Amino acid sequence: MNNSVNKSIIVTTLGTGTPILNPKRASQSILIEAAGYRLLFDTGRNVATRLAEANVPPASVTHIFFTHFHSDHTVGFADFWLSSWLPAGGSRSTPLYVLGPEGTHNLIEGHRLAFNDDIKIRSSDQKLPQKGVEIKTKEFLKCGQVFNQDGLTVTSFETDHGEKIKPNWGYKIQYSGRTVVISGDAKNDIRVSEIAKNSDLLFHSLGAAKDEIKNLDDVNAILQHHTTPKEAAKIFSLSRPKLAVIIHMVLLGKPGFPPMTSMEILETIQKHYNGPLTIAEDLMKFEVGEKVKVIPKANI
Ligand SMILES: [Zn+2]
Ligand SMILES: [Zn+2]
Repeated sequence: MNNSVNKSIIVTTLGTGTPILNPKRASQSILIEAAGYRLLFDTGRNVATRLAEANVPPASVTHIFFTHFHSDHTVGFADFWLSSWLPAGGSRSTPLYVLGPEGTHNLIEGHRLAFNDDIKIRSSDQKLPQKGVEIKTKEFLKCGQVFNQDGLTVTSFETDHGEKIKPNWGYKIQYSGRTVVISGDAKNDIRVSEIAKNSDLLFHSLGAAKDEIKNLDDVNAILQHHTTPKEAAKIFSLSRPKLAVIIHMVLLGKPGFPPMTSMEILETIQKHYNGPLTIAEDLMKFEVGEKVKVIPKANI
């Protein structure tokens, strides 16, 4: 690694999807590499296999950060955690740190109980080290700085994802003067634009349907939990990141009215926002250094 890469934040979008089952899009999971750490933001469906595709042993990830407890952000945890303990996942030998809002403790305790027998069996049969399956949970009741080591900081912030979906967080990651912001699932929350002002990279979630169906009750009920392309354009215009990245697109359709395509989403946003913009795919990489470099996804 040369020095400029060392001072960079490397981001890999492992999962860019939603609860909708889609083999091309695992559900949300974003890997951040900086200052020698590997941090994972959410553990959506297929996160462990996406890490393998990215040639990153699960055991090399030191910390997990949860945004909220919708299953599309958590269901990959068991596979990630237990695979990382096995030789095939890198033989984790020191505890994993899991951080997040209120509810993190319950999620982890439930996993411990569910996999108690597997842990007992592998400890005694395969002699896997107890420390390697240990989890240190840090649950925070309030937003603020949740990680600060070797110049790498992670700060959580609250966002609106709907009245009944609380707590719900986004994260701001900073290292060596670079800033990456992950909105998490957010419903047109203008606070994100303040937090992401002049950031290098802003990942923002989205929900969309064609005009003809967006006011139908069932479609509207889902869209009310997300940010429309036009609203995302406003957030990007106010924050002006070096690169805005759409992730976690909830694209709704009905017979005769198919979901909007990626091209239609980009065109709609670009009518109202003229800055650099892309849509994340699984296994895309972003090198955040002096400039933001996008490395296209590996073939999947
Ligand atoms: Zn989600
Ligand atoms: Zn959600």
